[in-house]
Amino acid sequence: MDGPPPQSAPERWYEPGLAFDCTACGRCCRDHGEYSYVYVSDKDLQGLSKHLGMTEEAFLEAYCREEDGWTILKRNGDACVLLEPSGLCGAYEARPKQCATWPWWVDNLASPKVWEVDVKGCCPGIGKGEVVPADEIDRIAEETEVWYEGE
Ligand code: SF4
Ligand code: SF4
Repeated sequence: MDGPPPQSAPERWYEPGLAFDCTACGRCCRDHGEYSYVYVSDKDLQGLSKHLGMTEEAFLEAYCREEDGWTILKRNGDACVLLEPSGLCGAYEARPKQCATWPWWVDNLASPKVWEVDVKGCCPGIGKGEVVPADEIDRIAEETEVWYEGE
C-alpha cells in the first residue's frame, strides 16, 4: 500500500522572484504613511555621522528624534530631514540600512496582497526591471532584520 505523499516545504509566494528597479522618483524619502519612519540603528548612526563629518551626538541632535525607544530621522516638512532640495539623499553612501534594502523587507513580503497593494502602491519601481531571485530576496530581508535586532 502506498504511503502518504511526501511533504514538501511550503513554497514562498515569490518563489519565481520579484522585479524591482528604482525609478529615482524620491517618493520613499517623502511622507507616505506607514513607510515614513526611517529607523537609525547604532551602526547606521556610526556610518551617517562619520559620512557627514559630525560626532554621533551632533548628528543625533541635528537629525534624529526618539520614539518608543527607537531613534528615528526627523522630518523636514513632508520629507526626510536628509533629503536635499535636488531630490537626492544627502547621505546616500551611508544611508540607513532600511533605505538601502527597500523593498526587500520581511513585512513587505508577507503576502502577494501586501506586495501588490501596499508596497506597489507607494513605490513605482515595483514590478519594473530585472527579477531578483527569491533566495537573494530572503538574504537581504534577513540581513535587514538582523541589522535592527536589539536596537
Ligand atoms: S519610491 Fe521606489 S522607485 Fe521611488 S525612489 Fe523610492 S525606491 Fe525608488
Ligand atoms: S536617509 Fe536618504 S534615502 Fe533614506 S529616507 Fe532619508 S533621504 Fe531618503
